[in-house]
Amino acid sequence: MAKTLTPEQYHVLREHGTERPGSSPLNGEKRRGTFRCAGCGRPLFSSEAKFESGTGWPSFYEPLEGAVGTSTDKSFFMTRTEVHCANCGGHLGHVFPDGPPPTGLRYCMNGVALEFEPVDNS
Ligand SMILES: [Zn+2]
Repeated sequence: MAKTLTPEQYHVLREHGTERPGSSPLNGEKRRGTFRCAGCGRPLFSSEAKFESGTGWPSFYEPLEGAVGTSTDKSFFMTRTEVHCANCGGHLGHVFPDGPPPTGLRYCMNGVALEFEPVDNS
C-alpha cells in the first residue's frame, strides 16, 4: 500500500530521524486500539502493551507478534537496538532493556511513525 508521508514521517521512517520528545499526540493516547505503521498500515502494537514511560515518546513493553524487526545501531557513539516495521522496513524507534514486566523491554517509538486506530466497543 503506497501512502504519502508528511515530511516529519518521511524523516523518521526513511531517514532514521527522531521526533522531539513530547511532540506526539499519541503520548497521551489512552484508548483501546491498535497502533499501525504510518508507512504501510501494518498493525504493530496493541494499546494493552502501552505504558507511560515518562520519556516523552510513546512506549510499549512488547510489539504484536512478528510485527517489527531489530538491528544494531551504533550511531551517536552508543550501541542501541533499532526497531523497524517488519513489513516495509520503516524506522520506528529503539528498544531498551529497562521496561516494565512482563517483558522488561521498553519499545521507545516515534509517534509520528505510528497511526492509532481506536476500538469502538468500550
Ligand atoms: Zn510499515
